[in-house]
Amino acid sequence: MTDFDATRQLFHLPDGVIYLDGNSLGPLPKSVPARLGQTARDEWGEMLITGWNRAGWVDLPRRVGDRIGKLIGAPGGSVVMGDTLSIKVYQALASALEMRPDRRVVLSDTGNFPSDLYMADGLIRSLDKGHELKLVAPEEVKANIDETVACILITEVGYSTGLRHDMARLTQKAHEQGALAIWDLAHSAGAFPVDVLGGGADFAVGCSYKYLNSGPGGPAFVYVAPEHTEAARPALSGWFAHEAPFAFDLDFRPAQSIDRMRVGTPPILQLAALDAAMDVWDQVDMSDIRARSVELCELFIREVERRCPDFELVSPRDAERRGSQVAFRFAEGYAVMQALIDRGVIGDFRAPDIMRFGMTPLYISPDDVQRAAEILGEIMTDRLWDRPEYRVKAAVT
Ligand SMILES: *Cc1c(COP(=O)(O)O)cnc(C)c1O
Repeated sequence: MTDFDATRQLFHLPDGVIYLDGNSLGPLPKSVPARLGQTARDEWGEMLITGWNRAGWVDLPRRVGDRIGKLIGAPGGSVVMGDTLSIKVYQALASALEMRPDRRVVLSDTGNFPSDLYMADGLIRSLDKGHELKLVAPEEVKANIDETVACILITEVGYSTGLRHDMARLTQKAHEQGALAIWDLAHSAGAFPVDVLGGGADFAVGCSYKYLNSGPGGPAFVYVAPEHTEAARPALSGWFAHEAPFAFDLDFRPAQSIDRMRVGTPPILQLAALDAAMDVWDQVDMSDIRARSVELCELFIREVERRCPDFELVSPRDAERRGSQVAFRFAEGYAVMQALIDRGVIGDFRAPDIMRFGMTPLYISPDDVQRAAEILGEIMTDRLWDRPEYRVKAAVT
């Protein structure tokens, strides 16, 4: 059994704060500052450029990728770190479209994170081959997978509502129709057990700064199914994707491994932070995380609905169809969230009217969730949100 009191001790959480936004930016693991200091002083400081070999920086994107691979059911050597998630979406989609040259439809859903859709749109414009980004309602994805679809580009858990797609089922339908499946695991990796190999995903991508706690701007990951390693040609063919970067050939030859999804020089300080942050998973059983996450979500839904009858639950009520977050709709949701943050409960807001609460068992307990619901109840009962300063929109919501 996972000891959640012990995992909580591994995180720095400011006094008086209940943090329900680890699905946006995970908190600081206590081990990270020391690791960053060590990497900066002992490696960068003392080794200078020899750190690439002596400290093993050059392999860090693969080593850390393998650690994330264990959480998502990916075999060793099939995951690599680097760049941002938006870039990894672009890479996966570019490779997938090249692998289905006779097809023109990229199928996604209206619950997907806009950046994934923007990247698809930009790629389609650059290709200029008549591809179409087809968007349907999340419930309509399966019915729209037909023989025109080159690939489905789906975020397993919708960032706004928390609706969870059935990866295995949609992937199976895609394959039956001759299409490929790209899964964005931004709200899955570290949130519940994922099995990219068992689920048949052709590509998977995700970020490390949400449930994996790598810190703001931490690098993203990309998985390529082992059978596609050679077929997946990298569209962003930077020198680190080359078979022999230090041969300095004038022609690009892709690496015969997942390294072909690398682009340029990896962010070593951020990777060191992520590597330290990954230690917590050595003492965690993913099925315990899932069970506790469901418990926290259900407790929060029950306690908030009891106190806040004006809220509408927009997350699925059925845990099977929900990720690890709870979202409520309320017209003045932005002001309510500011009032809540003012009282030490941090969630976030997604336009136009959704309040999101991430449930992260590593450092959030049932007591926290109970207390957060009580504070939210007070804000609603006493209309504490109804103040002009709570309506002022910040740059990041
Ligand atoms: C968080 C998130 C992103 C963010 O992408 P970045 O390039 O890391 O800023 C993209 N897609 C999804 C589905 C996300 O949840």
